[in-house]
Amino acid sequence: MAEETIFSKIIRKEIPADVVYQDDLVTAFRDINPRAPSHILIIPNKLIATVNDMEADDELTMGRMFTVAKKLAKEEGIDQDGYRLLVNCNAHGGQEVYHVHMHLVGGRPLGPMLIN
Ligand code: AMP
Repeated sequence: MAEETIFSKIIRKEIPADVVYQDDLVTAFRDINPRAPSHILIIPNKLIATVNDMEADDELTMGRMFTVAKKLAKEEGIDQDGYRLLVNCNAHGGQEVYHVHMHLVGGRPLGPMLIN
């Protein structure tokens, strides 16, 4: 069983966060260190540490993460100009918080996908 992170406390509203969406499967909140005018994290309510830990039973949740990303992009007014969805995995992916999260970033041109 994976260890809980700060994101579990955000889901349970035990610590403050700017939560913009929550349902039975996922929670979305603004990144505390935004890298673009819109930077929202969309996470499963269930603790799944990394993409490597996702299973077939989680497919509905992962699909929900995309449909919520689409909805929030529209609400942020960035859907037409475009945005980026990112999921980092483990050390080489740059993952810092071990609770799967999808970054929704946009509101400015984001440049090339990778720096190098
Ligand atoms: P990653 O590097 O993909 O694991 O991204 C983790 C993200 O979580 C970073 O962009 C952090 O700024 C963000 N983050 C960490 N703690 C919090 C928090 N308490 N509330 C909102 N965002 C957070």
